[in-house]
Amino acid sequence: MDYDVIVVGGGAAGLMATAMAARRGKRVLLLEKMDQAGRKLRITGKGRCNLTNTASLRDTLPHIGSSTAGSTKKPGQTGGIWLRNAYGRFFNRELMEWFEERGVALVEERGGRVFPASGKSIDIFLALIGELEASSNVTIRKNATVKSLETLEGQATGVVLDRGERIGCRHIVLATGGLSYPTTGSTGAGYRLAAEVGHSVVKPLPSLVALKCKEKIPEELIAFQLKNVQLTLCDSLSCAPAFRSGVGEMTFAPDGLAGPLVLSASRIATRPLHEGRTLKALIDLKPGLTADQLDRRLLADIDQNGSRIFNDALRLWLPAELIPLALPQLHIEYYKRLHQLTGEERRRLGRWLKGVEFTLTGTHDWNEAIVTQGGVSLSEVNPKTMESRLVHGLYIVGELLDLDADTGGYNLQIAFSTGHAAGEAV
Ligand SMILES: Cc1cc2nc3c(=O)[nH]c(=O)nc-3n(C[C@H](O)[C@H](O)[C@H](O)COP(=O)(O)OP(=O)(O)OC[C@H]3O[C@@H](n4cnc5c(N)ncnc54)[C@H](O)[C@@H]3O)c2cc1C
Repeated sequence: MDYDVIVVGGGAAGLMATAMAARRGKRVLLLEKMDQAGRKLRITGKGRCNLTNTASLRDTLPHIGSSTAGSTKKPGQTGGIWLRNAYGRFFNRELMEWFEERGVALVEERGGRVFPASGKSIDIFLALIGELEASSNVTIRKNATVKSLETLEGQATGVVLDRGERIGCRHIVLATGGLSYPTTGSTGAGYRLAAEVGHSVVKPLPSLVALKCKEKIPEELIAFQLKNVQLTLCDSLSCAPAFRSGVGEMTFAPDGLAGPLVLSASRIATRPLHEGRTLKALIDLKPGLTADQLDRRLLADIDQNGSRIFNDALRLWLPAELIPLALPQLHIEYYKRLHQLTGEERRRLGRWLKGVEFTLTGTHDWNEAIVTQGGVSLSEVNPKTMESRLVHGLYIVGELLDLDADTGGYNLQIAFSTGHAAGEAV
């Protein structure tokens, strides 16, 4: 046997699995297809790496979803519950300690987001790779692409590289990532490798990604930041709300909606949109007011500004950049004076401010998606060890699994915790 363990993929999950297995005295070979490991890790958090979140386990679980149990309507719960065991052993505190013990000072920012104090994601990568390079148990091979997994009578026995070389081992940790940002090396090979040894794969879809809409976005709006708004997604046929955000920020892309609220909403929207359904997005520009309160405010403003022209007076209620979007949708003559508005026109304006409507038609592609939704079905993987229930000695970790989470450090925590669990179990 050439190695005790072969880890396929040197991202967050694979690096952590390698470190843990080596610490337990295993001879580990890490195979990375790119010329450098950790390419994605280095660009996370806009180069600052939001490695985890300080939220409690209870508050973390609803941020994690899985499509395996059809949970996309309620993000969280199944994905989070599946992770409880791994998180019980290695969660945010343990992860933070792991890096701090290796000399990486960390800071907590808004919303419990944790970053290296240096503001440089490279420090997280260097701590991981430094651990591996210092260990005599670890061999790292770059530019080494795994083409297939070898098994014998339901037991993992080795891997074959793209140039035909065969390497034997007792355990394989498959940590090839998903399909997002393929230029970092995650081109979805792991789905094929897992499927070839019998695993079911929930169709991978781009998530935490901008959403396309049917409406034309006025030029003035592109990249404009809309603050203190609330976003609701509805099924366009039943009008049943599928998602309601908190109050936050969003922005506009040339062909649709983007920004933090939209990325979160994309976790709910991606599957129906890729199945060909359309969804409605409603932006509440006045989330702090009920419809009645807003109507009273409009009445008072109209009273005080009766001689102003509608077109110009709209600035009382919305940012100037939104006016080119508002006017054609409101069907109110732009040169009317406010005191000439009918009651119906005032109510129409109120309804528009409480729900600017967009018809969602799709998502942006893999080059912009922060994570992958879908992946290797959780029911076929042991949540304590990450070992495949189909092939002994095969472990599946990280974004390759059918798990995805909100922004805020939750996705890297999934990669580190699942990698850690496999590294402890091999
Ligand atoms: C721009 C961006 C910013 C992000 N920021 C954050 C953030 O701040 N916080 C957060 O929590 N999450 C963030 N994420 C998500 C997070 O980076 C991922 O969820 C996480 O890195 C997944 O880790 P992984 O190890 O499973 O996969 P990856 O990091 O994708 O690693 C997979 C590795 O496997 C290698 N590989 C693939 N196929 C093969 C093969 N056949 N043979 C050998 N090697 C192979 C790849 O080259 C790659 O190095 C961000 C993602 C992106 C794209």
